[in-house]
Amino acid sequence: MVDIINVHKKFGELEVLKGINLTVPRGKIVSIIGSSGSGKSTLLRSVNHLEVIDKGQIMLDGVQVNRPDMSGLAFERHINHIRQNMGMVFQHFNLFPHLSTLENVTLGPRKLKGMEKKPAEELGREYLDRVGLADKAEVYPSRLSGGQKQRVAIARALAMQPKVMLFDEATSALDPELVEEVNQVMQGLAKDHMTMLIVTHEMAFARDVSDWAMFMDGGVVVEEGTPDKFFTNPDHERTRNFLRKHL
Ligand code: ADP
Ligand code: MG
Repeated sequence: MVDIINVHKKFGELEVLKGINLTVPRGKIVSIIGSSGSGKSTLLRSVNHLEVIDKGQIMLDGVQVNRPDMSGLAFERHINHIRQNMGMVFQHFNLFPHLSTLENVTLGPRKLKGMEKKPAEELGREYLDRVGLADKAEVYPSRLSGGQKQRVAIARALAMQPKVMLFDEATSALDPELVEEVNQVMQGLAKDHMTMLIVTHEMAFARDVSDWAMFMDGGVVVEEGTPDKFFTNPDHERTRNFLRKHL
């Protein structure tokens, strides 16, 4: 579903991604772990072109995301279409404070997909139900806990019916007691075979939910493998060191 091929990215002189390769098969969950500053967010943001890569290719379901050959309106149209197929969830939820949870969830389908109000609301309620917030449709974000806000953010991304969900440390801004409810929603998506690319610093969760785990350090992939192998018997010293500190 997602193919990351020899991706390079520099910020000025700083080379943050030094030739990353990663495949996320349809219906599979891949976790990216690594220290702060190792390039995880940059990689995830490159997947939906929030960062423009310098070299390499990003493919979504057989379609090339980055298109150095395209520009202007044609590229804008292309990238908007691509982004409709990728749901992204950030550490900070970025809900619109002046919109109810249901309005937050239906905004994308209405504005980007041109859905009518009624079917959009039906869809929105379905996804709010999916994240356990059916009773919060009319509530404004300021009345929600951090965990509930993040679940609304997930429902909002799901309402676009994306082909892949990208999570960038979705639980790291939450109080510890609110992490589990968000993890459970992500586990539910995994059970339903949503394709997911997850950046997380929660090793136990990564081990449970992933089909494949990847460790990044200094802009390169140091090691990757099945969670069983990766978390219990990694090949590389750098991976072992990281896991020793974080498990
Ligand atoms: P991670 O998510 O693994 O913590 P990031 O991808 O956020 O790492 O950052 C990788 C490196 O790139 C860091 O050194 C960071 O300071 C740098 N970086 C990230 N975004 C920018 C930017 N927009 N401009 C300049 N440097 C950046
Ligand atoms: Mg990050």
